[in-house]
This record gives sequence, C-alpha cells and structure tokens, in this order.
Amino acid sequence: MPPLPWPEPQAAVVRPLVAWYRRAGRDLPWRRSRDPYPIWISEVMLQQTQVERVKDFFRRFLERFPTVADLAAADEAAVLQAWEGLGYYRRARQLHAAARQIVADCDGVFPQTISGLRALPGVGRYTAAAIASIAFDQPEPIIEANSRRVLARLAGDDRLLQGPQADEPLWQLAAELVPKRQGAGRFNQALMDFGAIICTPENPRCTACPLVAACQAHQQDRVAEIPNLPAARSIRQLQETVLVLRHRGRLLVQRRQAGEWWEGLWDFPRVLPAGVVTSGRRRLGEVTYTVTHHKVTCRIVSLTVDERPRPGRQERWVRPTELTELAMTAPGRRIAVMIASLP
Ligand code: SF4
Repeated sequence: MPPLPWPEPQAAVVRPLVAWYRRAGRDLPWRRSRDPYPIWISEVMLQQTQVERVKDFFRRFLERFPTVADLAAADEAAVLQAWEGLGYYRRARQLHAAARQIVADCDGVFPQTISGLRALPGVGRYTAAAIASIAFDQPEPIIEANSRRVLARLAGDDRLLQGPQADEPLWQLAAELVPKRQGAGRFNQALMDFGAIICTPENPRCTACPLVAACQAHQQDRVAEIPNLPAARSIRQLQETVLVLRHRGRLLVQRRQAGEWWEGLWDFPRVLPAGVVTSGRRRLGEVTYTVTHHKVTCRIVSLTVDERPRPGRQERWVRPTELTELAMTAPGRRIAVMIASLP
C-alpha cells in the first residue's frame, strides 16, 4: 500500500470523523447494546437489505428469538419464516447453524476472536471484524460498500475500488486508521454512517463535509470519478403462470428445490402435477416481482382438482389459513394474501 496521504491521520481523519458521528450518527436499534448477538443479527440482515427495511425485521426477529440459545433451539422452518421478506435465505440457514454451533461448542458464549468468529457458518471477514470491533472493541478494520467508497475518496485512489476480490490495500488502509486502544467499533460505525449520509455514491455533500481538508479526491477535483460506476445491469423480463390448485377447501403448495430461487420455501406450483385432472379454470389476477436482475410477471390461475393425488415429498395440501404458518417465497406470500382477500 502507498504511504498514507496524511502526516497525522488521527488528527486529519479519525478524530473529525468520530466527532461528526457523535453529533450526526444514526440512532439504530442494534446500536443500543454491546451484546454480540443482536449486533450479529443486524450485520447479517444488513448484508443485502437497506437499513430502513431491516429495522422492523430486526425487532421482530429479536422478539421471536431473544437470545442465541432461543435461535439455536428453534426449528429451521420457524427461522425461515421469521426471515420471510428479507430474501437470501441462505443467510437465515447459516445464522441458525451458527447459533447451534455456539451453543454446542462454546456453551452459548459468543467467540471473541476473529478466528473463532470466522469459524461460524456464514461469518466472513467483514462480519467477524464488525462483531469484534463493535461488540468487543477490538481494533479490527472493516470494509463494506460505504467505507470502501469513503476511504478510496479520502485517499484519492480509484485503484482501491477494483472490487471485493482485490481490496486488500483498502483493508490495510482501514487497519492503519482504526483506533488501536479504544473506539474501534465507533470508528467503524462512523465510517459506514458517513458513507450513507455525507459521502454518498452520487452527489456527496462535500460542502458540509468535516473531512474536506483531508480528502484527496476533493483536492484533485476527482470526486465524481471515484467510484467510476459501471452501467447498471439490464433487467430481464420473464412471464410465468402460477397454478392455485384447489381440492375441497385445500390448496397445493410445493417446496422450492435446491438450485431454484428461494430454495426450501413454499410456493404455488407452476406446472400441473402428472395425471391431475382439473376443471373450473379461473383467472385470479397478476403479480410482478423482481429477483436477481429478473422482473417476473405471474399470471395466477385457479383450478379445481377433481381427484386429489397423493402429495409428493415436497408437497402439501393445506387450508388457506395454514399458509400464514409456512415460510413462503415473496410471490407465494403475495398470492396467498390475494387468495385470502377473495370473496
Ligand atoms: S469531501 Fe466529498 S468526497 Fe471527500 S470525503 Fe467529504 S463528502 Fe466524501
């Protein structure tokens, strides 16, 4: 890594940043405690979901599983259901597996070392450092989307933004800056908030920035070039037909298989099971949803099944009221709500 551009980085960057955070940092529910369990839950939820959306999910998840022991003791289905709406269900499965590992191998006590944390399922370099610094105030740097951009601009070096596979120099820069004696967690949270509020991806608020004197990108008039954002990936349009199969007040649901979107969650079938004879075809409506660069339009069709076949291993015939107890895919839940509102 090239030498730091500031003779006194603590005075130039760290102290003004932390002073700004004390004044203007976000009051987030997971910041009200140093307990590693809620910090861990919030960090995992925040990996793919916006802060504002996470707040409600976080509160409900903690009400349902207040401790790591409660999470470890829960059924996977209950954990997936509590995760419903957050997407990326692999994260929920890994949380559950990690909670069980903490209870089984560590007597329910959170590991405090980076190596102990990284031995947990789903805990990578960022999450381990976030927990270690925020919960245990260890001098561990973190790099995520906001701090990556802020540090690259402060250092005036867009080569630092070559992507998560090549950001070792950024980790080194963050490690140089993170306070060594105390306040590491506060500094890391300050960097993230600063990137979310002041040094935003587009139109950063340089005129209100307490770090403007230290910012190399600003001095070189290169703020707009860092990051050099790639063109947005195009969205593919898809159409599908969803079958609401009814038999004597029950509906057929199927569990999504490995390799499908929403693996392990319940949804309505797209294909009529072999040998099933139907009647009473009726169009119920349409829902659209977006998933990983696809916009999908679903036509929803209701059919009455004349003779109910024996369900497969990943199928169930359920009453409409039972749908609320299942962990469902995002479109599946919307269709369930639609069905419940029908006369
Ligand atoms: S001066 Fe602008 S680009 Fe530089 S750190 Fe501040 S907000 Fe970000």
